[in-house]
Amino acid sequence: MAQRTQGGMWCASCKKPIMGVGNTHRFRNAFSVMAVPATGGLSLGGLKSTSFVCPTCGGPAVTKAVAARQAMKANVQEQHEADRRRKVDDGAWWLLRGVFRGILPIKTLYLGGRLPTVDPDVGRNGTTLRLNVQGLQLLGTFLKLKGTFKVLFTIPWSDVTDIAIESPTVSRHSQLISEVRTQGHDDHENEAVLIVEKLDGSEVLFLISDITPEDLAATLARVIEGLNETKGP
Ligand SMILES: [Zn+2]
Repeated sequence: MAQRTQGGMWCASCKKPIMGVGNTHRFRNAFSVMAVPATGGLSLGGLKSTSFVCPTCGGPAVTKAVAARQAMKANVQEQHEADRRRKVDDGAWWLLRGVFRGILPIKTLYLGGRLPTVDPDVGRNGTTLRLNVQGLQLLGTFLKLKGTFKVLFTIPWSDVTDIAIESPTVSRHSQLISEVRTQGHDDHENEAVLIVEKLDGSEVLFLISDITPEDLAATLARVIEGLNETKGP
């Protein structure tokens, strides 16, 4: 059986121009071309190119235009990856893969801290703390927004020097905690204080519910490790 061939094609694996060889799926491809009504020249070309393979490696043969697009896409991804690695080397531990894996949003009571853009009374009830690549984000609702759940503020990791986890009963902030504690909430055993220490010397406090200090420390182990690594000796 005579094989179809098509010149002017490209193999991404061999990184060279090739003569595309018609593959055994030719009929299936021809069928899918027919199944697409009113196909423009462009997509027809795309479908056609998938029916040729490289005579050397058997990989997919593509047109020069498709190869150029694929190369450009790969190049952008490579640059992003190189950029990420460089930032990690410069201390951006939060860009390490998997640092926030398994950290679910944490039910919290925002106890305050010096955050210039936020009303200290904002989000004291029913707020959630989220840790992600952006930083520590407090999500919640406040009256002005009529109950919409949204990010109230973000503390970027570049502003965070340390995270301390304490038991509310022995915390150096236990006085403040008892002052803001909501009524009827006295399950001290199952609470932890999360203290975010910032570059400017200020602290932001969160009272985390339904978790012991030990369990919270275990949950945030990789984050704390990341912070410690960049702190140096
Ligand atoms: Zn090849």
